[in-house]
Amino acid sequence: MTVYLPADLDEALDVRARHPEATPIAGGTDLGVHWPQRMAAEPGDWLDLSGVAEIRTLAWKDDALVLGAGTTYWDVIRNPGIAEALPLLVRAARLVGAVQIQARGTWGGNVVNASPAADGVPVLMAYDAVLELRSRVGSSLVPLSEFYLGYKQMRLGPDELLTGIHIPLRTYDFEWFEKVGSRSAQAITKVGVAVTRRAAEWRVVANSVAPTVCRCPGVESLLAEERPVSGPSDLAPVLAADVSPIDDIRSTARYRAEVLARVLYWGLRDECPNVT
Ligand SMILES: Cc1cc2nc3c(=O)[nH]c(=O)nc-3n(C[C@H](O)[C@H](O)[C@H](O)COP(=O)(O)OP(=O)(O)OC[C@H]3O[C@@H](n4cnc5c(N)ncnc54)[C@H](O)[C@@H]3O)c2cc1C
Repeated sequence: MTVYLPADLDEALDVRARHPEATPIAGGTDLGVHWPQRMAAEPGDWLDLSGVAEIRTLAWKDDALVLGAGTTYWDVIRNPGIAEALPLLVRAARLVGAVQIQARGTWGGNVVNASPAADGVPVLMAYDAVLELRSRVGSSLVPLSEFYLGYKQMRLGPDELLTGIHIPLRTYDFEWFEKVGSRSAQAITKVGVAVTRRAAEWRVVANSVAPTVCRCPGVESLLAEERPVSGPSDLAPVLAADVSPIDDIRSTARYRAEVLARVLYWGLRDECPNVT
């Protein structure tokens, strides 16, 4: 087993191009979970990104916050400006695992791990985040809402790394994220939903209810058109077309569908005149 330890981004991209079989590792909090089985089954090489300072920065631009892919949840929690400008980032960060995971897990790892249960991804998607992907030959920007192609499938080339996450700085009328798990910490999400509204423009993004974290276009239209909603049962049929929950060890499809409709209803009830 070889562990590559690049000192900077150029070197990391060089290793990525020459050794696409080496698995990038940032905080290791996802990869580490399967470490013993993985080492036995496929002892591969590693590209350790922890020494790449360029992706550990957090930069305020005129119109966006750029989170380096290697920034941790804790970097976000302790940044004084983020709670005011993009409060859902802090809310999601505080709901990830517990403080040990928040201190080590990265936003880039959460995105590329591509778990349907990822808690960082819904809030990033509700803020219309755009991913910066880089290879030795150039870079591209991909909206996060277009990044996932299916379960654990994504638009990331074998020679690319996720280097940054651009989050537009906008004024929202409403920002909200809720996570349902079996405990208040160290709980993988059974149902989660992030919502933002700017005038009539809504983003409703759910996790743990489809093969990928996903926007809910039916509910977004319902809210934009101000159609009446007088209980969770008015949201449920619309959500049924937006999401596709499954039974697994954490929950059942039925629980997920019902709880998503309820959580969303209660979250929206005081915010929208048409949700009564
Ligand atoms: C006890 C525990 C509790 C947890 N609780 C939660 C929770 O509540 N909510 C939640 O969402 N997650 C949770 N997680 C999962 C995990 O902590 C997060 O997903 C975290 O953000 C992963 O980041 P990482 O840097 O540790 O990723 P890593 O494990 O280092 O990598 C994850 C994946 O991303 C790839 N990768 C990482 N960085 C890059 C990059 N820059 N470019 C390309 N590929 C890259 C890796 O190759 C790998 O496929 C938990 C994990 C543990 C162990």
